[in-house]
Amino acid sequence: MASYRDLLAQAAERASDYYEKVARGPVFPGAADIEAVRVALGSLADGPVPADRVVAELAEAVEPALVGTTGPRYFGFVVGGALEAAAAADVLTIGWDQPAFNAVTSPGAAVVEDIAGSWLKELLGVPAGASFGFVTGGQGANTVALAAARNYVLAQAGWDVEQGGLLGAPAVRVVANAERHATIDRALRLLGLGTGVLEPVATDDQGAIDVAELERTLARGADGPTIVCLQAGNVNSGAFDDFTAATAVAHRHGAWAHIDGAFGLWAAANPGTRHLMAGAENADSWSTDGHKFLNVPYDSGYVFCAHPAVHAASMSMTASYLTGQGQGGLRAPGDYVPESSRRARGFATWAALRQLGRSGVAELVERCCSLARSFGEQLGALEGVTIANKVVLNQVLVDFGDAERTDRVVERVQRSGECWMGATSWHDRRLMRISVSSWRTTEADVDRSVAAVVAAMG
Ligand SMILES: *Cc1c(COP(=O)(O)O)cnc(C)c1O
Repeated sequence: MASYRDLLAQAAERASDYYEKVARGPVFPGAADIEAVRVALGSLADGPVPADRVVAELAEAVEPALVGTTGPRYFGFVVGGALEAAAAADVLTIGWDQPAFNAVTSPGAAVVEDIAGSWLKELLGVPAGASFGFVTGGQGANTVALAAARNYVLAQAGWDVEQGGLLGAPAVRVVANAERHATIDRALRLLGLGTGVLEPVATDDQGAIDVAELERTLARGADGPTIVCLQAGNVNSGAFDDFTAATAVAHRHGAWAHIDGAFGLWAAANPGTRHLMAGAENADSWSTDGHKFLNVPYDSGYVFCAHPAVHAASMSMTASYLTGQGQGGLRAPGDYVPESSRRARGFATWAALRQLGRSGVAELVERCCSLARSFGEQLGALEGVTIANKVVLNQVLVDFGDAERTDRVVERVQRSGECWMGATSWHDRRLMRISVSSWRTTEADVDRSVAAVVAAMG
């Protein structure tokens, strides 16, 4: 029987073998490999099995069925890779197994999350006084931000939603970019506001909110409890709303301004793209991901709020064993997120930021954007191919002439195993959607992927 030490070494060995193998491909598994997983792992045994055999069985069956998201040629869904120090820190996090609720359950996790949170604010241009929560991703971040917004705008109208709930509460308006991410809608459902409250605002040809239309929409209704949802990084085009103008309009109408910047918020960390985030510091809340641009392993997201007391009031809980000394005298991570028991997410984020430093984060963002431009230039130069968006960040939308042809090219590229990009429908066009989000992607990977696309067009 293997010792715990040998077992973890074996797992680390396998993970590093995989890390090397994934760069060679194929990027997407075959149907037979996926089916084989259930055959190999599907029956529950009557008795125990030695731990080393368990790990070997799992790895052998699952590895061929994995998607190469940590490799250099995965361009689907704005999925980031796993930065080395962050991945290794997550291995430690599992070994340490800290319930990162507060400073009593894990003072170490509380302090490191506090440090990482202030580093994030500095890099992302979020005001230093903002509160933050380490959540599972953009969905978690949007949900927490909108919960805080709901608390605030209803309190302004004299209603305590934490105590009184929504039955009998004043109506809340949610005015949002028509091309918002679907997680905003789900957050509204989870928060009991429902998607029916949404008043979508038309966008320009790049998917950025039309500010004059935002103003008209706000003016059309009452200046009661209102939340405005803006976007940094349109999920298709990468476009940014005009935050200077849009936050000013929102605030003039007494509304809460939220910015969903799951990947776009990172533009602030790079001098070459920082201008896209101008005025974003005026918002009331911000959402972003660690697992997209920062390349922290899944799952990792962050929410920030300009009203710390409101943020904590909408998320924290209390119990007799938590009062006074029960919180340990430090910032309690659990006061800013919906979970109580939770993984210590701060360690991996701290490690990613420590490995990269300010300049490394900037370079990571800049490199992804420059490789996206390279995709745009190379593919756009092909006969019968047009780039459908302005490549302002890391997103590229490719039109192969008609919907059928685009779907055929995307499907062939995916089947080639050379690289992986998805398809999308945007502004009445069927498009290939490329997102460059991994620190491992190089110019050679872009060239090889362009060659795969050319082959698929033939
Ligand atoms: C990815 C994304 C989300 C959702 O983030 P998850 O981490 O998948 O929960 C929300 N908004 C935007 C703009 C996104 O790109």
